[in-house]
Amino acid sequence: MRKLFLVPAVLSVLAFNVSGQQLSLDAMIDRDIASWLSTYRALHAAPELSHREEKTSAFVAGELRKLGFTVTERIGKFQNAQWVGYGLAAVMKNGPGPTVLVRTELDALPVEEKTGVPYSSQVKTKNDAGVEVSVMHACGHDMHMTSFLGTARMLTELKNRWSGTLVLLGQPAEETGDGAQAMLRDDLYTRIPRPDFAVALHDKPELETGKVGYTPGYAMASATSIDIKIRGIGGHGSMPEATKDPVVVAAQVVMALQTIVSRENSPLDPAVVTVGSIHGGTRYNIIPDEVNLQLTVRTYKEEVRRRVLAAIERIVKGVAASAGIPEDRAPIVKIAEGTGSMYNEPQLVDRLVPVFKQALGEENVVKVAPIMASEDFGYFSLDQKIPTVMFWLGASDPMKLKQSRETGVALPGLHSALFAPVPEPTLRTGVKAMTSAVMELMKK
Ligand SMILES: [Zn+2]
Ligand SMILES: [Zn+2]
Repeated sequence: MRKLFLVPAVLSVLAFNVSGQQLSLDAMIDRDIASWLSTYRALHAAPELSHREEKTSAFVAGELRKLGFTVTERIGKFQNAQWVGYGLAAVMKNGPGPTVLVRTELDALPVEEKTGVPYSSQVKTKNDAGVEVSVMHACGHDMHMTSFLGTARMLTELKNRWSGTLVLLGQPAEETGDGAQAMLRDDLYTRIPRPDFAVALHDKPELETGKVGYTPGYAMASATSIDIKIRGIGGHGSMPEATKDPVVVAAQVVMALQTIVSRENSPLDPAVVTVGSIHGGTRYNIIPDEVNLQLTVRTYKEEVRRRVLAAIERIVKGVAASAGIPEDRAPIVKIAEGTGSMYNEPQLVDRLVPVFKQALGEENVVKVAPIMASEDFGYFSLDQKIPTVMFWLGASDPMKLKQSRETGVALPGLHSALFAPVPEPTLRTGVKAMTSAVMELMKK
């Protein structure tokens, strides 16, 4: 990165005039990094579960107010009216130009931290079921928030270099997949200017710290949860002729569902149908009345998702009918709310990749393959009407990653109790990449 200072063309892009003196973005980051690291450690040690991000949200809102943003708090209407929407939006109007939205998540996970870092979370709380759980920022949302606040600080100082409206969004309940929709349902885009671009980052343990990754087009899948209740007619295990056995039907259903992806779906459209849970029966010699399945379906395209869901319903009902289960005991298929897919608008990706390369060095910007995991940031694009990009922020020690590639033993991934990003270089890269991206989109 230091070699950038020797290249005048690059220097002119990365050096800014702050209070009369020329400071490079690197120098500004050097100046502030210690304070950001202490913010990161404080956030890491005080995680809050989805739908309960009260203190985290108030902290982020307070920091943005100090920087001169106009902040609206408590945005978000959930289906469950008991949950408070702890979303926040901070707006800074700075002349004519596009509106750019930058998003961070606020929530953490019910995971008991085992990283052993000195600022480990000791937090325990009761979940919605009243059960005590440990809480941890195991998805790195603390890193996202700190990068976001650092970016806010940089952009505030660099106001004379960009023009437009900056919207910084703190989203609750990403892990439960309902936070983005809750904010939109609460009239987000009438309460704040509707963005022309939306950008976010997410840390990635499979990528070296210091690097960012990009995926043009579909990057993450939609996720839909499905509950299936297969109802039979129970009885004695020794008298199957007097029953309709839901265990056998469930077994056939699990196998028949595999044909959706292999036989009904185009191989060019990725899809996953996973039966993650199957429960039925109580003991050896009783044929139960019902068996319950829980599925997750992942697709990129909405039409594929709809086709897969219809196929599941058709197959489940068809298998049950062929087993002679009467109409009034037909299976019940319940589709729970899910999360839409994440589509990185290719033109916006094309615009940002050279900016990242200039800021971080050619070798530190890599193309990353799409995955079937999910994320609700895509909702802010309003069905791809607003160009949106989420880029990956490398988080792992390069030596450890090299070793892991050699041995085939994976490093702790997102949501692991052992996930511990390398704070300083990850934070520096996050702030630098996001600041550069916004400056590009709002350049004068
Ligand atoms: Zn997560
Ligand atoms: Zn996450």
